[in-house]
Amino acid sequence: MTLESCVTTEKKPLLTVKQAKQRIHEAILPLLETEIVPLKNAFGRVLAKTVFSSIDLPVARNAAMDGYAFASEMFAEKLTCVGTSWAGKPFIGELKTGECVRIFTGAVLPINADSVVMQEHVTVDGLQITFPADVKLKKNVREIGEDVKVDDILCEAGKTLSAIDLGLFASAGIENLSVIRKLKIAYFSTGDELVGLGQPLAIGKIYDSNRYSLHGLLQNPSLDIFDGGVIADDKALLKNTLLQAANDFDVIITTGGASVGEADFVKEVLDECGEVNFWKIAMKPGKPLAFGKIGGCYFLGLPGNPVAVTTTFDVIVKPALARLSGANFAESFEFLAICASELKKSRGRQEFQRGILTQTKTGELHVISTGNQGSHILSTASRANCYIVLPPDCAGVQQGEMVSVILFSS
Ligand code: AMP
Ligand code: MG
Repeated sequence: MTLESCVTTEKKPLLTVKQAKQRIHEAILPLLETEIVPLKNAFGRVLAKTVFSSIDLPVARNAAMDGYAFASEMFAEKLTCVGTSWAGKPFIGELKTGECVRIFTGAVLPINADSVVMQEHVTVDGLQITFPADVKLKKNVREIGEDVKVDDILCEAGKTLSAIDLGLFASAGIENLSVIRKLKIAYFSTGDELVGLGQPLAIGKIYDSNRYSLHGLLQNPSLDIFDGGVIADDKALLKNTLLQAANDFDVIITTGGASVGEADFVKEVLDECGEVNFWKIAMKPGKPLAFGKIGGCYFLGLPGNPVAVTTTFDVIVKPALARLSGANFAESFEFLAICASELKKSRGRQEFQRGILTQTKTGELHVISTGNQGSHILSTASRANCYIVLPPDCAGVQQGEMVSVILFSS
């Protein structure tokens, strides 16, 4: 048995989380269809083509401070102020020997000026400006192209555009961008026990919470999402619904029914109407997870338990959607923290326990468990701010041991 496959009581070793992610990465081909959107609508979208700047930034040499500008080669301790350069209304002309101009932050320097001295450092007597003897020349000036030069890359293809990127493009005068079209995603809950909000809870029924978690998790400008409601535990109905949805969407996500119970039809239906790439992974919570394809549509059958849904979404679904949308995906930082709780764990699966990470006054990172780690216990997930990631071969953690943590991102 390799390190990659882990110890399990089942005959065939389950795929590790890493192997499952690799399988998904290989199976999913990034979308190539693009659309042009105005800059404001590009927030959170995936850039389809690398964008270059057609102008220098700054476009002109300008002042970094309010003060007085002069040409260093003609500097004298006393200069005469011959005008003002405002941001947007520059001083037009060249400075002669003995001259300086009043200047404000962002204002263009006179043609031959190359230095600005802060207003706090000069003495003003009418138009006579006296500079300190030890004045530093060629300071407080923003040079042409020191931020971005003509033909420099502004952002590379595959970047998910941030607020800062929008500002960067705007500063370069870019109005429209080519982005990957939105992924069309349908999500469904499955289960005879589920009722919608506002309905009375008859005996044996529970409120459908997974569609609400998924609704939140899928909030992303690069996704076009459709809430498909609840599918009863009826194989024919499930099959018809999935076949229909596969025609209209790029991705179908279901929750529940992916186990081996008598009312669990997801794997069977996927087998019959599509292809199962894998089913079940060595992850806790989240073991009964199915991945495959129905026609041209990717299928992710998540477990039913509410915390297994949110955890598999973070660990498995997010990178899968990023891959499909052509986005460069950066794994979340995993860092070490001192575990201040004792953690129970059996060998076999990689666990994502829920913790609260804090930083002490001296900068140490401490993590505690939020308590009951049952995959149906949403409250301990709600109170957490991180996953405590325990490797398959870990058989529990003593107080004071170091553990890996990943901060929640959604
Ligand atoms: P299943 O995988 O369908 O056997 O579901 C596992 C557990 O998750 C059961 O206790 C279900 O009642 C529960 N569950 C399944 N779907 C949902 C849902 N949409 N909202 C809340 N709980 C669910
Ligand atoms: Mg079920």
